[in-house]
Amino acid sequence: MKKRVLITIPQYGGILSNIAESLEKLGYYVDWEPVISYTESDTAENGRGYHAIIASSEPYSKTVLEELSPTLKVISRFGVGYDSVDLVAATKLGIAVTTTPGTMSGGVADHALAMMLALGRKLMEFDNNMKAGVWDKSQLGRELEGSTVGLIGFGSIGQRLAKYLTGFDCRLLVYDRSASDYELKQYNAIRTDLDTIARESDYVSLHVPLNESTRGLIDKNFLSKMKPTAFLINTSRGKVVNESDLIEALKAKAIAGAGLDVFECEPLENSSPLLKMENVILTPHIASATIQSFQAAGHLAVSNVHEVLSGRIPKYVLNPDALIK
Ligand code: NAD
Repeated sequence: MKKRVLITIPQYGGILSNIAESLEKLGYYVDWEPVISYTESDTAENGRGYHAIIASSEPYSKTVLEELSPTLKVISRFGVGYDSVDLVAATKLGIAVTTTPGTMSGGVADHALAMMLALGRKLMEFDNNMKAGVWDKSQLGRELEGSTVGLIGFGSIGQRLAKYLTGFDCRLLVYDRSASDYELKQYNAIRTDLDTIARESDYVSLHVPLNESTRGLIDKNFLSKMKPTAFLINTSRGKVVNESDLIEALKAKAIAGAGLDVFECEPLENSSPLLKMENVILTPHIASATIQSFQAAGHLAVSNVHEVLSGRIPKYVLNPDALIK
């Protein structure tokens, strides 16, 4: 009998149809049901009976994994963040969890750069004014060239952004617990602490994963040290920032603005004050959503599924112990 694979990412009008085609060619039965509910009960209900899931960011908690474990052998995360999966429970239940590192770095770095340029040049304000019939040339923007950019997290995405920013002759400050001196030297970046990043940066861009050491890393204390002319860009995970502290800082104009792709609670609630703020650009967790990034991620996600279901240990498995009997 064919093994069954569920895909929960959106279909994007068929642009990614080669993901399902590749799986079918490899002999799998494929269902593609884009996630619409992020509750644990719906995640368990939708995933029942599958051997593999190419997963978006729906929650695979211990309870969900226990319900799915009789058949489920691999959660192939379409992306690099895995805070939506209980890795400890997955390992105990023999469910491999894989990711697609590096495949989305171009998309996310590109998005962070777009937010920096748009904020600095007040693109959204000018656009809103024009569409409201207002021809207002009274404001000056700021060029990115020569700015100091603080990169919190200097892995795959942080380094890709650094590569782009060197073209703007930016001064790069880096806070990262494991990046090597060689990696920093490649981009002429300076290793420093969070305080210095807060005080000296014109733009602070976040590229750390969500874990216990990064939860709430950007809080009242950090924001109060930032320059009133500086911008915060978050394309990492919403919970890396204390969102109510950020809202207070934005209201008080303690910082100049923010570009946010990710939020403490997703989807962002309609009542969020962020939706009414002019100095904020918001996008619905789509920083990595480019054709190039998603095709690359799809290719690797399929390979991860096939490796596990063929009894091999894929290179990008987070919990190889789950596969060692
Ligand atoms: P990566 O693993 O290559 O790099 C993460 C870096 O963070 C590492 O260099 C690590 O040393 C550093 N780090 C981790 N914890 C730290 C801490 N407490 N203090 C200092 N440094 C710390 O990951 P990446 O591919 O660059 O992705 C980064 C994050 O971006 C992902 O974990 C994910 O949450 C997020 N992401 C978002 C989107 C999106 O669409 N918005 C898409 C992809 C990834």
